[in-house]
Amino acid sequence: MTCLFCRIVSGEIPAQVVYRGPEVTAFRDINPQAPVHVLVVPNRHVESISELGSADAALLGQLIEVANELARQEGVADSGYRLITNRGPDAGQTVAHLHFHLLGGRPMSWPPG
Ligand code: 5GP
Ligand code: ZN
Repeated sequence: MTCLFCRIVSGEIPAQVVYRGPEVTAFRDINPQAPVHVLVVPNRHVESISELGSADAALLGQLIEVANELARQEGVADSGYRLITNRGPDAGQTVAHLHFHLLGGRPMSWPPG
């Protein structure tokens, strides 16, 4: 198993895990871009969001539910947060295992760079 995030999900590589469930795991980004920067990932290997669709509605719902719950736990639910996923080189995806970035705790500009 070579995928970095699969290895974090399995516990083979340590991370600051903030949520662990049967389908979804969340852990702090190693290089945080905001006071709150958590990565929410499916436990099964999915390369990117482009692989998912209506057949994966339950998994997508759980990813969003965990992100929203963590936003509340991290205290950014009211101040606001960004939930984004990068797919492919132009978007800046560097790890080929689907992950949603939960970012919050500071004002963020738009559009992204
Ligand atoms: P991407 O650029 O693919 O959207 O996001 C990948 C994210 O994974 C980056 O924000 C990067 O800092 C984070 N990351 C890369 N390697 C590790 C690691 O070993 N542990 C953790 N916790 N985060 C990582
Ligand atoms: Zn993986």
